[in-house]
Amino acid sequence: MDKDRVYLDKSEIPKQWYNIMADMPKLPAPPISPITGKPVAPEELLAIFPPALLEQEMTDKRWIDIPDEVREIISLWRPSPLIRARRLEKALGTPAKIYYKHEGVSPAGSHKTNTAVAQAYYNKEAGIKRLTTETGAGQWGSALSFSCAQFGMECRVYMVKVSYFQKPYRKAFMKMFGAEIFPSPSELTNAGREALKRNPDMPGSLGLAISEAVEEAAGRSDTNYALGSVLNHVCLHQTVIGLETQKQFAKIGAYPDMIFASCGGGSNFAGIAFPFVLDKINGKKVTAVAVEPASCPTLTKGIYTYDYGDVAKLTPIMQMYTLGHDFEPPAIHSGGLRYHGESPLVSALYNQGLITAQSVPQLEVFSSALMFAKEEGIVPAPESSHAIAATIKEALKCKESGEAKTLLFCLSGHGHFDMMSYEAFTDGKLEDYAYPEAAIAESLKNLPEVK
Ligand SMILES: *Cc1c(COP(=O)(O)O)cnc(C)c1O
Repeated sequence: MDKDRVYLDKSEIPKQWYNIMADMPKLPAPPISPITGKPVAPEELLAIFPPALLEQEMTDKRWIDIPDEVREIISLWRPSPLIRARRLEKALGTPAKIYYKHEGVSPAGSHKTNTAVAQAYYNKEAGIKRLTTETGAGQWGSALSFSCAQFGMECRVYMVKVSYFQKPYRKAFMKMFGAEIFPSPSELTNAGREALKRNPDMPGSLGLAISEAVEEAAGRSDTNYALGSVLNHVCLHQTVIGLETQKQFAKIGAYPDMIFASCGGGSNFAGIAFPFVLDKINGKKVTAVAVEPASCPTLTKGIYTYDYGDVAKLTPIMQMYTLGHDFEPPAIHSGGLRYHGESPLVSALYNQGLITAQSVPQLEVFSSALMFAKEEGIVPAPESSHAIAATIKEALKCKESGEAKTLLFCLSGHGHFDMMSYEAFTDGKLEDYAYPEAAIAESLKNLPEVK
């Protein structure tokens, strides 16, 4: 068999998701209602989420069955390949073995489709006809548009206004699958109208787009809201990535020493790493590294406390690493990583020392992306290239020490819609942003008080 390109049969798509809440030494504190100041009552969330997803959000059952219909749809692109980056190893002159799990083969081009299909399925099952969501760079909106189309559901996407105009092809992609896209702030919601009244030229933010999508879903009984990262059920659905990877390594008789994944809200990292973190809890030696932008360093520079998930303070208050819900990250070209908070599960594992984190600056991310593209023939998403940059750094350390470590990274998506960013880089127009220390300190002053 080919040990450099490891494929699995369709029958080897995992039949269950792995829920790390069953095995963590200590669970994150329960989310707090922004209205009552007490732990959120499930009824508060039933206005926007279906019961099955709320159940998955809270359960401590270790294995959760993947519905046949979901497995059938994700089999369009799953199992995804595990590939050895031989030419990259050679170009680096490293004794390290570098493998990557290729999630860019999904219909929307990133790992996000894994949870989008599951979320659409459970909403359909609960009789919901429409889903609303926000999207920044457009990857999540694309994944949900595709997934709603599979179940004959309507999909409405509030897209951060700057991205709406900067990424016209993401918008076109979503329309192909029948979704409606509106630039946020919009005239369709109170949150949007108020923002436009304050500033008609407001460029929009992820936090505001979330507020618009949540407001609409809460106000209509046929409509729910879907989130593309952060929450426990999203991390759960992404574990198909790591579970497949474990089977693939077993087939070639190998095992990773280190795992690198880019980290925005945390679900991509959770997806590849959590099944391996279980191995670690059971005594195996493996280091999982969450890689984030130097300009939005939630784990490496944020604090572990309680904060809102959005600017408008509509979401529950979660125990997590945060830079403050008011923090506006610099306009880096990795829209999928510009988030002030972090998955409570990833945060708790980091706090408990079961995983590690690193941050990388933008220019190193883009030069690593170009090297990977040249050697391996795949244009990576700028988000994914954070993991590539950290892997390359480790491989060069191995070159110095002579260690032949096995390194694994998640290629969370392709970068075919990111050509404007790549052109800005090759034209020498991209820059590094200074670590926004003052802005972070300022926004950390506005954390909610939790007793
Ligand atoms: C959204 C996105 C990420 C970040 O994912 P999180 O699960 O929020 O950490 C990484 N890579 C790609 C390609 C993305 O689209």
